[in-house]
Amino acid sequence: MTATLASPALTLVDSDRDIGQEAYELMRRLFPLCRSLTGAGVRATFDILQDYIPLVCREVPSGTRIFDWTVPDEWNIHDAYVLAPDGTRVIDFRRSNLHVVSYSESVRTTLSLDELRPRLHTLPDRPDVVPYRTSYYERTWGFCLSHRQLLELEPGDYEVVIDATLAPGHLTYAEFELHGQSDEEVLISTYVCHPSLANDNLSGIVVAAMLAKLLAGQPRRFSYRFLFAPGTIGPLAWLSRNRERLDLIRHGLTLSCIGDDGPFTYKRSRRGNADIDRAAEVALRDLGTRHQLAEFEPWGGDERQFCSPAVNLPLGALSRTAHAAHPPNHTSMDALDQIDPASLGESVRACRAIVDVLETDRACLNLSPYGEPQLGRRGLYRAAGGAVARPEDECALLWVLNLSDGFHTLLDIAARSGLTYDAVRCAAERLEEVGLLADLSRDGCRRSA
Ligand code: ZN
Repeated sequence: MTATLASPALTLVDSDRDIGQEAYELMRRLFPLCRSLTGAGVRATFDILQDYIPLVCREVPSGTRIFDWTVPDEWNIHDAYVLAPDGTRVIDFRRSNLHVVSYSESVRTTLSLDELRPRLHTLPDRPDVVPYRTSYYERTWGFCLSHRQLLELEPGDYEVVIDATLAPGHLTYAEFELHGQSDEEVLISTYVCHPSLANDNLSGIVVAAMLAKLLAGQPRRFSYRFLFAPGTIGPLAWLSRNRERLDLIRHGLTLSCIGDDGPFTYKRSRRGNADIDRAAEVALRDLGTRHQLAEFEPWGGDERQFCSPAVNLPLGALSRTAHAAHPPNHTSMDALDQIDPASLGESVRACRAIVDVLETDRACLNLSPYGEPQLGRRGLYRAAGGAVARPEDECALLWVLNLSDGFHTLLDIAARSGLTYDAVRCAAERLEEVGLLADLSRDGCRRSA
């Protein structure tokens, strides 16, 4: 992993702050819902997202075979609690949905504390924190609580109730499709299966929703597909239903754990040198914010499915602090009050910067390639003896002219020159205006992709 340490944070403009605040408000609405791999919490999440972007919801029946997996029964929970010997609700699902192991089967019984204890999950090394636990593919039940609370439980008989249904139903995922000039797509995917947890996972949902909303309001070269699906089996369900059209996906990103204020982390696609990998690297560099680049590994989030060997999409993973390095993840510490709206604004901005590169990257051809063309005559170079305000602009003109041989795109030029992508793009536009450069478009690049 290579780390770049530049200025500590992104400079936000007002519109970024507004978007960050809107993302946070959406997160606040989604936070209370008890999401899981399937069930009413996922559907209610999509109902709220519909206020921002029109989603198409897809239902996949329980029992459906998906590659090597089978869609599990649908889980819905109505209430759950543990009553202490004195009748008080010592553990209460209504207080926090983290208190119940996700996918717990229904139970109604009375147990001694010793009998109950194996069903109680805590974090002894962090005694004030409630862990988040799931058991999707193995039937069981259990509760999660702070270790301090466990130590305070008195001996005696405890009434245990989990009022839940685990029965054939559906897995639900949702898509938002935005058409562009081309049928070729950029796939943005995030997961929707965590209950009241803010950074992991609501940050991905709200950043994707804001990005979708912004892209809907601007002209687009590519088509965009936003996928909101429960982790692992959601992308697998989508992939199995879209095998025939995977060739249309030119670029992709998964978004996860993108709401904390740590440095951005971009994990490269399995291909390692896809356009999205280079676009993310240059865009994050140009933002001048702390970030790190990681090589692909088959460990992490849903990129594992999109980058499985027979799929191998050009898709990278964008997050902030790496999951394992962020202690609040998968605990009650990952709460709304840990999220700064400005961090969400930064994350949307970073996504837009990457998308902007994808949207505008193209190959050009220098129409005067024998020596340097005379720029001064065309008003593009400093007047004799005079200094220019921005030497970078002139440098960009010379780089674009030099590398526009049909084998390099603007992104290649920005990466190789060290100049910002925007400076390179502006230089290309100026050279086109004076007839020194021809647009070959992205597909006209002579370099084999
Ligand atoms: Zn997680």
